[in-house]
Amino acid sequence: MAILLDGKNVAQSIKDGLRRDVLSLKKEGRGAPVLACVAVGKDPASAVYIRSQDAAARDLGIEYRLISFGEDITQEGLVSEIRGLNTDKGIHAVMIQSPLPKHLDIGKLVGFILPAKDAEGIHPENLGRLFLGQGKIAPPTAAACMELLRHSGVKLFGKEAVVVGHSNIVGKPLSLMLLKEFATTTVCHIATSEAGKLRDHVARAEILIVAVGQAQLVKGSWIKEGAVVLDVGINRAGGRIVGDVEFDEAQKRAAYITPVPGGVGPLTVTMLMRNTVELFKG
Ligand code: NAD
Repeated sequence: MAILLDGKNVAQSIKDGLRRDVLSLKKEGRGAPVLACVAVGKDPASAVYIRSQDAAARDLGIEYRLISFGEDITQEGLVSEIRGLNTDKGIHAVMIQSPLPKHLDIGKLVGFILPAKDAEGIHPENLGRLFLGQGKIAPPTAAACMELLRHSGVKLFGKEAVVVGHSNIVGKPLSLMLLKEFATTTVCHIATSEAGKLRDHVARAEILIVAVGQAQLVKGSWIKEGAVVLDVGINRAGGRIVGDVEFDEAQKRAAYITPVPGGVGPLTVTMLMRNTVELFKG
């Protein structure tokens, strides 16, 4: 039976370090890091994330400012608000809560955040640094996955790593981070499934990370014996939250596995806070 990779546990020691960092920055007279979250409309899932960001910041001594707009704000209006945050010396990190209403283009908006204030590490300049293996800011969910892998103690050097999902915030940055550690990395996506090849890729993964958003897409019986399995997916099914991996079967084969909820999620918000502290330090 697999060992559970508990995100809350792993987050705890990182949070202890961050709390100490923030305290000593305050003692040096530098004040508290301030994270501004730009949110539009009233998405219920976003409201949950916003509450958990607020609580995490509060816990660490970081100041969290929620800047909310109605759904009628235009792209130009939001760009101007972001420019205002860029020049505000009292704000050290900026993020845009997604999803945004359809008339707003998050990909373009992120490009207006000053790279030095980009809390989620998704500005093209920061992603470019990540590509070159130089970035100190990484997208929080990808960073959370790397922390969980580190915690498992499994060496990545030369391992077959398979990432399912190629989004700009999870799959793609994660594949770069795995490459940096010399894992032999394959990225699968919708076309892999449509070509009927997903199962074969999953079956040879020594490190498997699934970030798709489809309940139990990856069957437990596909998992290689002894694999490390990180399930990033968050799906509502049958009145509960489940991941993208068929957990009950997968845990019989994997050596390590993340639960959903309680795996990647709790660490993601901690990584966002870590980015905020890093940006504050400059
Ligand atoms: P996204 O929606 O931007 O992209 C989905 C990816 O899955 C794409 O690469 C797509 O090609 C691929 N895909 C879709 N159907 C597929 C299939 N049948 N087979 C193989 N690949 C398929 O994804 P995202 O924003 O990275 O989010 C993915 C999941 O991770 C969602 O459930 C999201 O809620 C969750 N998520 C969790 C956290 C966390 O902190 N735990 C953070 C971010 C996202």
